[in-house]
Amino acid sequence: MDLFKLAKYPFIAEAKEWVKNEKVSIDEILFDEIYERARVRGIERVRQAFERGFISNVALLNEIDCMMEIFSYPIARMIVVAIDNDYLLRRYALAEAKKAYEGLKEEEFEFIQMIAKEFDIELDGNKIHFVDYLKYAPTWDIKWKLVNKKLKAGYVFIRKNEVARILQEAIRKKIYNELVNLFAPPEVKKAFKDEIMEIRNKLILKQKKEEIRKGEIKYEDFPPCMQSLISAIKSGLNVPHVGRFTIVTFLNAIGQSVDEILKLFSSSPDFNEEKTRYQIEHITGRISGTIYATPKCDTIRTWGLCNATEECRGIRHPLIFYKRKRRRK
Ligand code: SF4
Repeated sequence: MDLFKLAKYPFIAEAKEWVKNEKVSIDEILFDEIYERARVRGIERVRQAFERGFISNVALLNEIDCMMEIFSYPIARMIVVAIDNDYLLRRYALAEAKKAYEGLKEEEFEFIQMIAKEFDIELDGNKIHFVDYLKYAPTWDIKWKLVNKKLKAGYVFIRKNEVARILQEAIRKKIYNELVNLFAPPEVKKAFKDEIMEIRNKLILKQKKEEIRKGEIKYEDFPPCMQSLISAIKSGLNVPHVGRFTIVTFLNAIGQSVDEILKLFSSSPDFNEEKTRYQIEHITGRISGTIYATPKCDTIRTWGLCNATEECRGIRHPLIFYKRKRRRK
């Protein structure tokens, strides 16, 4: 594979091999002037992932550009690991995966197939084995549900962009699993002392803000529909998809974090942390770019989830109920 491709997909085995073969020492990569550009870009990768949730592309015009881009990837990983915060690890892994997805959509199908092979994803032309499909596809989204796909002899028919989307999830998982098992050498903490401190402080600030907000949230102010959904989920009842969707949008709108929402679902009989987190992150716009709005009362009523009481008189939206109740205090 040429350097341009390795620079675009630095998480693949061949890129790692290339870095190894360059025989650059940790001291050189962290302190040598030659790698200054790679270090700057490495920090940029981490900052963008943390602050914006995605990593932008840089112009790759020559081999030096590519080399710096390839080296910036292990540097970014070392910084993320040195910061030692699970939220950041997840956010960074996702941002790298999204960056790869944007690139893969533009690639030839043969290239995508090659990357899929690296993840042991079985593709047969425009078909994917259903086991791989179920492992990585965002099946909580109605259009990705297996019943809405053409299936033949254990294979699901799939378009190029969909394979890229499936690969995004495989890449995210791979990067995250690698990061949690990595150890940052002490030299990294020394070389990026200021940046590590700065990002750690921002993470602490973010956490504090969430704690303050959490303290302000009062369950008794929730509208009856949301209280019922929460009770049902906590009692381990199987809440339908629309109910789960509704409660996630509501809790997100009133400022609960992904982790707090996730905790609510942990008593569900079919709880799968990874899958649930992924669904919450999608609905709340962390990975989809779309923050889904809380449905109106009319819609909730159609779904059979409305439990209106006297307090709901004149209410058309659950968030209005919540806001009014809080204003009265
Ligand atoms: S009227 Fe609206 S806020 Fe009240 S329970 Fe029904 S859906 Fe919820």
